[in-house]
Amino acid sequence: MIPTERIHKILKDYKKPKIATILSHSSLQIFHGARLEDFKTIGIGMKENFEIYRAFPEATPDELIAVDNYEQLLDEEVQDELVRKHAIIIPHGSFVEYVGAANIEEKFYVPMFGNRAVLAWEHDKKIKQRHWLEKKAGIRMPREFQPQEIDRKVIVKLEGAKGGRGFFICSSPKEFRTKAKARKLKEGSFTIQEFIEGNRYYPSYFYSPLSKTKAGVPAGKGKVELICVDRRDELSGGYTVVGNIELVYRESLLKQVFEDGRRTVDASLDLFPPGMIGPFCLETILAEREVNDKKVTQIYTFEISARIVAGTNVAPDGSRYSCFSYKEPMSMGRRIAREIKQAANEKKLPLIVA
Ligand code: AMP
Repeated sequence: MIPTERIHKILKDYKKPKIATILSHSSLQIFHGARLEDFKTIGIGMKENFEIYRAFPEATPDELIAVDNYEQLLDEEVQDELVRKHAIIIPHGSFVEYVGAANIEEKFYVPMFGNRAVLAWEHDKKIKQRHWLEKKAGIRMPREFQPQEIDRKVIVKLEGAKGGRGFFICSSPKEFRTKAKARKLKEGSFTIQEFIEGNRYYPSYFYSPLSKTKAGVPAGKGKVELICVDRRDELSGGYTVVGNIELVYRESLLKQVFEDGRRTVDASLDLFPPGMIGPFCLETILAEREVNDKKVTQIYTFEISARIVAGTNVAPDGSRYSCFSYKEPMSMGRRIAREIKQAANEKKLPLIVA
């Protein structure tokens, strides 16, 4: 991994940071929020997409940098230009996917909001994510099965499959063998999880180690806030996400929702200091279970996204929760910009940028 000292040395020369990201995913919200916090913004993307970003004048980046493909972001020429412009990159899902987690860790030296070390913990779903969330944080996750142990409905997840492509359901070792054979599954290329029947909720949190806001609950060295909640709108019969819808919880569930956020942050501080800085989203399923003859709603987390997720696009002018935390409309994009602004003012950027 690129040594943090190298990034922090670059950061030292940043007089007036600009906020930069790739034109995709949650970038409209990032540019819009940055502008509300008085930052200049830079969008990087394909020329043919510029029109879309000019179509929304309040979210159009101040500068557009054209690339032919996202691999070009690794070119020294492009990286040096971003450094010269004092750009801080906001990593989002498309950025990580297009540039590649390993490339970002090894070759991308432009300062990035958050902790780079989290990329590996997010990427390795099978071992690292489970260790972080289940073992360290004590968060409830769907049980994992070996093929011969299958005694209920399970979901078979293929490593590296995007958006659930190729996942399949089965209920016995025999059914698994038949379906795995038909798909020519290789050993070690999948995980088997209990299939949780229930409703999917995606709470988006923000961990601030600097937190001076009253919002949120204590976590790590600061606070963790609940910014918004969404669910994915998927094409029928599959897992292809085409949009997002905002949700609110039954109020009695909020205690567990905050507890899961807090535990995720607290555990991350030990595993990869300075921890899960900034936005993250727990991908959860709410299920009804019988405990001591009583029906209770339990929250299962099946994955974490350790950065801003596109689901936060449901609340560009604040959510049904952020309105209880802030007097002004607070999107995730704006919350990120505010954190950078505060850190810059207090000369603490190295605490949240690496
Ligand atoms: P993932 O790639 O892990 O985000 O999973 C893709 C989709 O599969 C999710 O959006 C869920 O709809 C579904 N899914 C994943 N894990 C489970 C599970 N343990 N039980 C039920 N559905 C799941």
